[in-house]
Amino acid sequence: MKIIMLGAPGAGKGTQAKQIADKYKIPHISTGDIFRANIKNNTELGQKAKQYMDQGLLVPDELTCDLVMDRIKQDDCKNGFILDGFPRTIPQAEALDAALDKINEKMDYAINVDVPDENIVNRMGGRRCCLNCGATYHVVTIPTKVEGICDRCGSPVVLRDDDKPETVQKRLTVYHDQTQPLIDYYEKQSILKTVDGTKSMEAVFDDITAILGA
Ligand SMILES: [Zn+2]
Repeated sequence: MKIIMLGAPGAGKGTQAKQIADKYKIPHISTGDIFRANIKNNTELGQKAKQYMDQGLLVPDELTCDLVMDRIKQDDCKNGFILDGFPRTIPQAEALDAALDKINEKMDYAINVDVPDENIVNRMGGRRCCLNCGATYHVVTIPTKVEGICDRCGSPVVLRDDDKPETVQKRLTVYHDQTQPLIDYYEKQSILKTVDGTKSMEAVFDDITAILGA
């Protein structure tokens, strides 16, 4: 069961990926975690990646793909794995396919958690964060008991800059430019499965498990 998670930032694909990983007992692989682990363990690939990151440069696709392949080849991935945050672009997807092909493997599913932009902007715009203790809330789904005040410590809760509509919209534009083409790419490979990400977290998860089988 080799799965790629697709979805806009804020669509909830990370949460779904974690739940899938738990249910099917396969590793949840995020590139951020791989980078951190390799840099921490000072591996050869980690050292290379760090050189780019230290200069504020993007890690090249080929190197990112090498890091992912290195992780995929580990023992715990033999029954499958779930990729979250990679590939992000067509060149990355092509590099991944080529590398998998060399070891006679291929991806089985690309699950697209589909949420319209305006839903994401609304979701993020409702988030509130306590600057003092870090507790997070949402004006609709997890409201504070007293409006604007943290339940835990009594400090004011705020809308973070990252969650402001204009910031969210910018991230979504980048997503549509870079990642949306992947949807067509995996559609052509007949492995794309789209789920309605506007449903509740539980309902989305049920839809995904219906696709993957119990
Ligand atoms: Zn607080």
